[in-house]
Amino acid sequence: MNVVLKNLTKIFPGRNRGDREVIAVKDFDLEIPDGKLVALLGPSGCGKSTILNLICGLETPSKGQIFFGERDITNVPPEQRGVGMVFQNYALYPHMTVRQNILFPLQNFKGRNRLPKEEMEKRALEAARLVKLDNLMSRKPGQMSGGQQQRAAIARALVKLPDLLLLDEPLSNLDARLRLETREEIRRIQKETNITTVFVTHDQEEALSISDMIVVMKAGVLMQLGKPQDVYDDPVNLFVAEFLGTPAINVFAGEVRDGKIMVGDDVIGDAPGIPSQPVDVGIRPEGFIPGGSSMHMRFKALEVMGRDMSIVSESGFSKAPTVRAIVSSSADAAPRDGVITFDIKPEKLYIFGKETGERIYTGRAARQASAVTDKLADSDGLAVPDDLAAPDGIAASADSADKVGGGAGEGGAQ
Ligand code: ATP
Repeated sequence: MNVVLKNLTKIFPGRNRGDREVIAVKDFDLEIPDGKLVALLGPSGCGKSTILNLICGLETPSKGQIFFGERDITNVPPEQRGVGMVFQNYALYPHMTVRQNILFPLQNFKGRNRLPKEEMEKRALEAARLVKLDNLMSRKPGQMSGGQQQRAAIARALVKLPDLLLLDEPLSNLDARLRLETREEIRRIQKETNITTVFVTHDQEEALSISDMIVVMKAGVLMQLGKPQDVYDDPVNLFVAEFLGTPAINVFAGEVRDGKIMVGDDVIGDAPGIPSQPVDVGIRPEGFIPGGSSMHMRFKALEVMGRDMSIVSESGFSKAPTVRAIVSSSADAAPRDGVITFDIKPEKLYIFGKETGERIYTGRAARQASAVTDKLADSDGLAVPDDLAAPDGIAASADSADKVGGGAGEGGAQ
């Protein structure tokens, strides 16, 4: 079942008299495709949980509509929405066994929805098998690991055969190893059941690794959506570029001057057709080629991490105290007189408007931008909000792309 959010807005009144109201979600348009796993991603307080609560009916929208398939469920009570929900803190009953916890929602079915006892037992066992807990049915939550408890919570949500599964930070209470295992389990379960699933996390690595699609939010507003790799490769603004990626993208105060991208006196790329102006320059850590000659920085340290190494350096133009380049550990990273020099891979180099933070696309990238939005609109029936289809500063058609960056060579910033 696909889920459509139309112009969804949630405004909370101030908690105390005199407090300002909080716009938790603002004019949110999104189509969640049938059978996909979609992650809502963004910093704390950006409205992720509010969106889940609106979808399952725990909150009512201030404005806008929610559709499950063709059905407008905006005013349907939560228990009639057919949604399974899993929270961060498992919320299992401590005095009940796994079996009793999983059975619990079925025992609450009333009237003609009530199932025969054998059917309930059968479903509970199937759900437990799915999460690989069928051999622990008589354990109580206190006798299980965090990962097992979370799997029991997922089984309890699945036993109702929901059309939609909502997971709110389901891995936050687990230690690092269990997080990894459990997120792979969630992916497996989602693939096996093919239930449309919305997953909330503030952990981008989690989101990037298991989702079919990510939705990056900031202050209640949708910033960008797409396949994880596409969003990483093609951020629409500085916020998304900085939010995705570990280590984070390196950001420098730079400028476009006479069609060249400059950081200080270093010419690090081409931006043909872009008017001269101050810009923020982003370079992904994997975008540095040591031994090149375009960009100069003060060498600080080398951190070898097996196959790769991190070259740590400093630049007076960097927004962060240090700059990180990730290169192969066999690369020549020897500084000369304390200075290390790099060339920059054009596809890992981005420029953003100084005031707006919006991506400034050049040449080939402008063409790619329109191709990406077309692809998103075509694939999986995803809706592309107007502001993504033609973000400010983007030449959204090949035609206009040619106007801004006509004839850009491979050296243009992406
Ligand atoms: P986190 O990752 O920290 O859980 P989140 O992205 O899930 O954050 P929400 O919990 O959706 O964010 O909150 C969005 C905004 O709405 C926040 O500013 C929060 O303080 C506010 N908010 C949430 N619930 C209420 C409420 N019941 N009353 C007033 N404000 C609220």
